[in-house]
Parts: sequence; structure tokens; C-alpha cells
Amino acid sequence: MAAAVAVSLSATGPIRAQQQNFANVQIRVLPVQGNVYMLAGSGGNITLQIGKEGVLMVDTEFAPLAPKIMAEIRKLSNGPIRYIINTHVHPDHVGGNDAFAALIPQDPLNPLKIIAHENVLNRMTKPAGKETPPPQPGLPEDEYFTRFKDLRFNGEAIFVYHEPKAHTDGDSVVLFRGSDVVSTGDIFTPGGYPGIDLERGGSIQGEIAGLNHILELVVPAHTQDGGTYVIPGHGRICDEADVVEYRDMVVIIRDRIQDMIKKGMTLEQVKAAKPTRDYDTEYVSKNSFVTADRFTETIYKSLTQK
Ligand SMILES: [Zn+2]
Repeated sequence: MAAAVAVSLSATGPIRAQQQNFANVQIRVLPVQGNVYMLAGSGGNITLQIGKEGVLMVDTEFAPLAPKIMAEIRKLSNGPIRYIINTHVHPDHVGGNDAFAALIPQDPLNPLKIIAHENVLNRMTKPAGKETPPPQPGLPEDEYFTRFKDLRFNGEAIFVYHEPKAHTDGDSVVLFRGSDVVSTGDIFTPGGYPGIDLERGGSIQGEIAGLNHILELVVPAHTQDGGTYVIPGHGRICDEADVVEYRDMVVIIRDRIQDMIKKGMTLEQVKAAKPTRDYDTEYVSKNSFVTADRFTETIYKSLTQK
């Protein structure tokens, strides 16, 4: 079997790698707090909540990694996987849904529920200009269309909040109220500029609103570190201070570009003025998916589009 798998991507989808050798990917398991763990492999981070009733997953990375991820989950719990929550539609977050649905034994009394905002389901079933494909086992059929959805699992209240028009139009942020952990999806990606996907309904104003809402859910400890922990879409486990720094960066750059637009500057002029310059050392590296120019262009387009 070929080890290298081409992942189908659009030119603008914020996915990290065009081609990946999944055979060499190792899955790292990090205890976060309470019942919650973070799994990092390739693609978006996975959040796990584990207890007597079984396992809840937030996001599924890529299909070829599902057996490896399952092996790590089984080291933590032999219980059934009862829930998958998808934070948004990008393939590095939903790519493993079908593979997990196939790996999980069917239990009619306790069926696997796949939860996402309805815009995720819409985009998975009706890609623009394409025929509606037949239903797949990994589709989020427990879609919600309200401001939030709540559930109780493993003795813990879990809130799934829709963040409108942020990274995409179907973003969810998941709060584990008992464990005191928030899983953010790609609204928050420390170490890299946010990959706002305008084609899939994202916007700079929604991105900032989403970051502000995450900050409302996060409560710091009396000491500097700790309090609520934050699992980002990509990158390391964070706390409130990290999200504040990131939100401030996005707001400052948005304000600079907004001012330049008010002065009548064109996109080329705004790019030449380098409105991100003092942040680039922290948020751009050789492997960055979102370059400084691209972030500038996305904000410019988002602020000027009708
Ligand atoms: Zn994404």
C-alpha cells in the first residue's frame, strides 16, 4: 500500500501539507486537565474526553491515521466511542470521520453521534457545483443550527458553541465545564496567523468575535498559570494569557489595515506597507501555512467585500 497519500485541497483551504507520509506520523497523547486529553499527530489537534460512559472526540485528523489514533485511545479507555464533534469542515479536522465510524462497532442502543454545526454538514454534502454524494457513515447527522448545543457525558456538562463566520461559517468551540477545558478548532492557532477561509464563509470580524467569546469562556487561576486550559486547532496547549495575546495581535493588525483602507490604499499598497511586520517573527516560520502577505490579503478582502 502506498504510504504517501495525496490530500485533496482547495488552493485556499487552510490545510498544512499538500502531501504527507502518514506512515511516519506519531500520535502524541497529552493529558490536559480533568477528563480531557489532547492528541497531536498530523492535521488538527484531537480533543478526547474519557470516562465511565466511554469516549468523546473533537475532530478526527486524516483517515489514514485512524488506526494509530484508535490504538492510542484504547490505551486510555476500552469504552465505546459515543460522540465525535467536528469543529469545522476542513479535511485535517473531519478527514478521519468515515474511518472512525467504520472502526467503531455498531451498537443500536448507543449509536455513534457525530455533532457539527449544520453548515459543516451542508458543505460536506453539497460541495459547490458538485452532485450531492451518497450518505457516508462519517457525516455529522446530529447537526445543530442554534447558537449552541449542550449535552452531558461522563458526568460532565459539555457546551458546543457556534461561532458565526469566523474561521469558516460552521465553526464550533467546545467547552468541557467540569474539566475546565476549551477546544477551539482553527479560530485559535498559536504560533501562526489565523487561516480565515473566506471561500467557506469565514471573516475577520467573526474571527475576532470568536476569539472574544473563547476569552469569555476562559477563567484564569489566581496564580499566573493554569485556570482554564485551551486546546487550539493546531499547536500547543494554552491558557488565557496566550489567547489574549493572540486576540490582541489580530485586532491590532485588523485596525491597521482598516485605517489603510479608509485612506484609500489598494491591496498592493497595503501589502507593501507591511502591517504585520512586528508580528512576523512570532507568527511566520518556514513551514507557516498562512504567510504575512496572505493574512494581510485575507483581512483586506474580508473588510472590503460586500
Ligand atoms: Zn481549518
